[in-house]
Amino acid sequence: LISPHYIGRFAPSPTGPLHFGSLVAATASYLDARAHNGRWLVRMEDLDKLREVAGAAQDIIDTLVSFGFQWDAEIIYQSQRDDIYRQALEQLTSQQLAYPCGCSRKEINSAAQMGIDGPVYPGFCRDGLTEGKQPRSWRLLVNNESINFEDRVQGKHSQILGRQVGDFVLKRADGLFAYQLAVVADDALQGVTHIVRGADLLDSTPRQIFLQQQLAVNSPEYAHIPVATNLHGEKLSKQTRAQPVKHRDSGAVLCRVLSFLGMQPPAELANVPLDTLWDWAIQHWQVQMVPKMRRQVTLIPAENE
Ligand code: GLU
Repeated sequence: LISPHYIGRFAPSPTGPLHFGSLVAATASYLDARAHNGRWLVRMEDLDKLREVAGAAQDIIDTLVSFGFQWDAEIIYQSQRDDIYRQALEQLTSQQLAYPCGCSRKEINSAAQMGIDGPVYPGFCRDGLTEGKQPRSWRLLVNNESINFEDRVQGKHSQILGRQVGDFVLKRADGLFAYQLAVVADDALQGVTHIVRGADLLDSTPRQIFLQQQLAVNSPEYAHIPVATNLHGEKLSKQTRAQPVKHRDSGAVLCRVLSFLGMQPPAELANVPLDTLWDWAIQHWQVQMVPKMRRQVTLIPAENE
């Protein structure tokens, strides 16, 4: 039985093969969806072709299959959805909620205060482009009301966008739609009700909630799970040379993922068929057991070493 009240998703960026940290995000979102008899979707966030690694999208999909993940609808690719993002941006600009900006990075940096995620845009183009300037990017008009939400893992969280972020970019100067716009448009159109993802995105969530309000779509529930770090405390990523997960030991690797998420898989679970392992994990999943903090993982040695 599938519950229409729960739609979850995993939304990887194809910047490299799936590593332990991304497997944790996939697993947590999958278990939370299945434990609620919900649907679970995979969306490939391949907007930024410069950051994309050739073959990574297919590699991620193959790895998900080999670990026994099953999704409930065809995978969508953000690179094919420019029309949708354009419509969302048009809706916002026609309501004067978004505006074109002609400022260069240099102009902004020299005048801006630092916010939580880079300089806070000083608002030069808020009331119209400065004379002689061409639109470079498109920004969302924010305000100084506090955005509050209750994260299912991290608890209460709030942010004042006007002070901590500023009018943020929806369409970049290089012509690409920004992650914040694409993720909100797609989550809304796919009917996503529950987002489970890494805590590195916690600070983006108030922007996304505000954008949902401006687009008049529902806000999902959020659960931000701890980020996996290497022994230097750095987030596992392509930049920190995280090893890709290999499926040869899928049971053992998944058991490490479950432990990371606060579960206590019995030792023999590493050797049972994957179906049995998933059944156990779905039955024992409890979002309240997930620890809040970043957690170190000792890297699984690459199998070809
Ligand atoms: N594509 C984003 C990433 O891989 C995740 C987006 C999300 O889950 O909202 O970091």
